[in-house]
Amino acid sequence: MKIALLSRNKNLYSSRRLIEAADERGHEVVVIDVLRTYMNIASHKPSIHYKGKELDDFDAVIPRIGASVTFYGAAVLRQFEMMGVFPLNESVAITRSRDKLRSLQLLSRKGIGLPVTVYASKPDDIKDMIKMVGGAPLVIKILEGTQGIGVVLAETQKAAESVIEGFMGVKANILVQEYIKEANGADIRCFVIGGKVVAAMKRQASSGEFRSNIHRGGSAEFIRITPEERSTAVRAAKIMGLNVAGVDLLRSNHGPVVMEVNSSPGLEGIEKVTGKDIAGMIIEYIEKNNKFGKTRTRGKG
Ligand code: ADP
Ligand code: MG
Repeated sequence: MKIALLSRNKNLYSSRRLIEAADERGHEVVVIDVLRTYMNIASHKPSIHYKGKELDDFDAVIPRIGASVTFYGAAVLRQFEMMGVFPLNESVAITRSRDKLRSLQLLSRKGIGLPVTVYASKPDDIKDMIKMVGGAPLVIKILEGTQGIGVVLAETQKAAESVIEGFMGVKANILVQEYIKEANGADIRCFVIGGKVVAAMKRQASSGEFRSNIHRGGSAEFIRITPEERSTAVRAAKIMGLNVAGVDLLRSNHGPVVMEVNSSPGLEGIEKVTGKDIAGMIIEYIEKNNKFGKTRTRGKG
């Protein structure tokens, strides 16, 4: 196969591993920096150019689009889809997963367990909003945040009120969420490929921190997940329309609750913790599924 890897840096662990795994299986990988591509969209034959040449004859495309380039990255991926190239994850599913509010609405519609969450653009009554999530302590999140940045724990009613007012004052889009204290600063990353959880790890926040993100000093270890956690992760990925996803769960008193569903989950932590060849599994998934034109969002979205 000839595979396009949409990545801005081929030296990142995940990119390197995917290139390696494809190479081992005799495939060719072309790494493409989406910001340097240009596309002919007003044409009966959609095309993408890169460094003066047309990109063609691809069998599959692996999007690893960073949060900062979601908009243009999704457009380039959509163009590949219009050309009939099989996407590991579809553009529509990626843009869905990048918006925390939209994701939670889709998941809640299908009955997935979630922390009690409230959204408001300009509430007239912040106190009532706080009451809706059960009062302080509570968590406040910027909708477009990643890597734990923009996630705040307000421990008291007063703190909650002033943080919410502060964020709203700078016109940030925020969610207010029930704090799952019993998770004890841990979350579970379930790595889903093609409707199966192929690996899982527990991430534990460093002491004095409630965010388990590795970028915030969290540490990762192997964990065995329950059948309920497994089925929640599989269903969440399916609802988002993602073939490959990192589904993050918290263990709450009322069962597993989904934190978020990541459409470009990193490979480094999960491969190191579990010793599994996740990159190889991703390439095998593509080998089995990469039919030409097999994208539900072809020409749409
Ligand atoms: P990001 O996209 O920045 O990773 P998350 O919503 O995943 O934002 O939150 C980051 C981390 O903060 C989570 O992995 C979890 O450890 C912690 N956290 C977030 N929301 C809650 C919550 N409602 N209750 C308990 N911990 C939370
Ligand atoms: Mg997260």
